Amino acid sequence: MDTVSLTGKELAAAINADTKVRAAVLTASGTAPRLALIVANDDPASAWYVNSLRKAAERIGIACETVDLGADATVAAIRAELEAHSAAASTDAIMLQTPLPAGITLDDVSSSIAATKDVDGVSPLSLGLLASGLEGFVPATSEAVVELLKQHQIMLSGRNVTVVGRSNIVGKPLAQLLLAENATVTIAHSRTADLPSVTATADIVVAAAGRIGLVTGKHIREGAVVVDVGTNEAPDGKIVGDVEADSVRAKASALSPVPGGVGPVTTALLMRHVVTAAENARRA
Ligand code: NAP
Repeated sequence: MDTVSLTGKELAAAINADTKVRAAVLTASGTAPRLALIVANDDPASAWYVNSLRKAAERIGIACETVDLGADATVAAIRAELEAHSAAASTDAIMLQTPLPAGITLDDVSSSIAATKDVDGVSPLSLGLLASGLEGFVPATSEAVVELLKQHQIMLSGRNVTVVGRSNIVGKPLAQLLLAENATVTIAHSRTADLPSVTATADIVVAAAGRIGLVTGKHIREGAVVVDVGTNEAPDGKIVGDVEADSVRAKASALSPVPGGVGPVTTALLMRHVVTAAENARRA
């Protein structure tokens, strides 16, 4: 089958062009938008991601401060840092990197991020606003999936969508966003019995499990649209998704590439959220 590649680079470039103009307006009127990146790990993949966020911020005109609390930071230390930035007029936006130190989950600390600065929508308040259909920052990866599908003119209303993965930062918020687009949503996870039979009835399958090659041709129906959120390091060091691309391409009408699909749109939306937070703060 001729499978359309759901690339995200063009959409990311369009979002970034607009965000850059908005950031320049803020800078011209006094201060550049300011993002605090809080890190508490010594994970190389996280360091690579933080570096790429810093570069993206620089290209847009966002001032970025990285705070490294170390891989042995306590819950109290992480909360204190998040609370300080939440209160500080000199910080517009906060992102807390994962992984967190061993034994600490995002749920242990995310409530210390003020919702007005929670640009990746990870706090319980942000997630509750999303679940209630109220305005707030939405997790950028989930938003990126919906925006990517829309940009490629893939209809969501009335379609059956299966999301593989139920994390608080990708799967669950994505399900909420898809519901808001009037899709009929199924969420699959590691305890789902017979995953292929669940995914094979879907018009659209979103793979967000963090498992290399989890979704194969036998998981999808002929003509399905497949979005690959997975960002996994293969044994050879390459970044690969959750989808076995060759067998899926033989049946899918469209598939998002990894890298170059959801990833660049996610980063662009994060930067857009930072500028929105800064605009809101200047208006307050
Ligand atoms: P996570 O917190 O580890 O959650 C993974 C989810 O997948 C869980 O709900 C888990 O089920 C489910 N799962 C695991 N193995 C499964 C299996 N064999 N069958 C069905 N479901 C299975 O991961 P995450 O943070 O949501 O991230 C998911 C993926 O997206 C990762 O590869 C991550 O790197 C990537 N990601 C990409 C971006 C981007 O911008 N492109 C951003 C964020 C994350 P249980 O709940 O039952 O354990």
